[in-house]
Amino acid sequence: MIIKGKPIADKITEDLKNELKSLKKDRNPKLSIIRVGNNPDDISYEKNAIKRCENIGIECEVITLLDDISKKEYIDILDRLNNDNLVDGILCLRPLPKNINEDEIKYFISDKKDVDCFNPINMAKIIEGDRSGFSPCTPMSVIETLKYYDVDLNGADVCVVGRSNIVGKPCSMLLLNENATVTICHSKTKDLESITSKADILIVAVGKAKMIKSNFVKENSVVIDVGINFEDGILCGDVDTDDVLDKVSMITPVPFGVGSVTTSILAKQVIKAYKNNI
Ligand code: NAP
Repeated sequence: MIIKGKPIADKITEDLKNELKSLKKDRNPKLSIIRVGNNPDDISYEKNAIKRCENIGIECEVITLLDDISKKEYIDILDRLNNDNLVDGILCLRPLPKNINEDEIKYFISDKKDVDCFNPINMAKIIEGDRSGFSPCTPMSVIETLKYYDVDLNGADVCVVGRSNIVGKPCSMLLLNENATVTICHSKTKDLESITSKADILIVAVGKAKMIKSNFVKENSVVIDVGINFEDGILCGDVDTDDVLDKVSMITPVPFGVGSVTTSILAKQVIKAYKNNI
């Protein structure tokens, strides 16, 4: 079965609209997005995020900066947004240009407004199993997808391929917090196939078009494909969907899979920040 992201995003959107209606408020929630330059991927994500948020009743502003902005100017903008009581969430579109070191900047976004888990305080909270912080939107979308389709994580053998700070690592920790038994693989893993093919649930976040073939998956397993790649100009995931489809019980497609859930998770995190802020 191909499991799509849209029903999940629609459900989260409806739930958030209802939640917002039930909250006593004298102002709407507000998200500030900081974009440096004109990267088409950033602009596309920003457009979808604004559409989703505004549909729910979240006000959005975009602060657009030139590619040659200095580290100090970027930090000054973060400071202003951190101190603005009318701003609930801040989204720093990444990667930042090379002249701005993300490893320095990430400490300057308020952890209370950090709706995509840029600040290490929020990453630490995931590791500690403290649900008061903010998780990155893509790993959260993976968890929401599994839950929506009633995949039992309790004690499940889950393999995550990829260990980036933005997807693989936090996703692994969130799965651990759901009581899954998690194995993390990466580019130095020996005999990847022998590990992935034993997993009840396989999450792939590598960035290599269709690298996961049917010999990498277990019979009747659930596969979540996080990858976004272009092969011959066509969008595809890290999993060769056609090759594994007959073997697995559920698989997310690319496009229309996990990526479709992300903006609804972003909106959910903005509402969470708003509730803490009002
Ligand atoms: P990344 O930072 O490049 O990390 C890739 C990870 O894959 C690394 O941990 C790397 O291992 C591992 N890897 C590379 N080659 C491998 C191989 N042959 N076997 C096993 N592991 C291998 O990428 P990312 O930011 O995590 O993104 C991963 C994919 O998800 C990309 O396609 C990206 O576009 C997509 N993505 C999708 C969404 C969404 O909303 N759907 C959001 C973010 C990213 P090492 O650590 O050893 O280098």
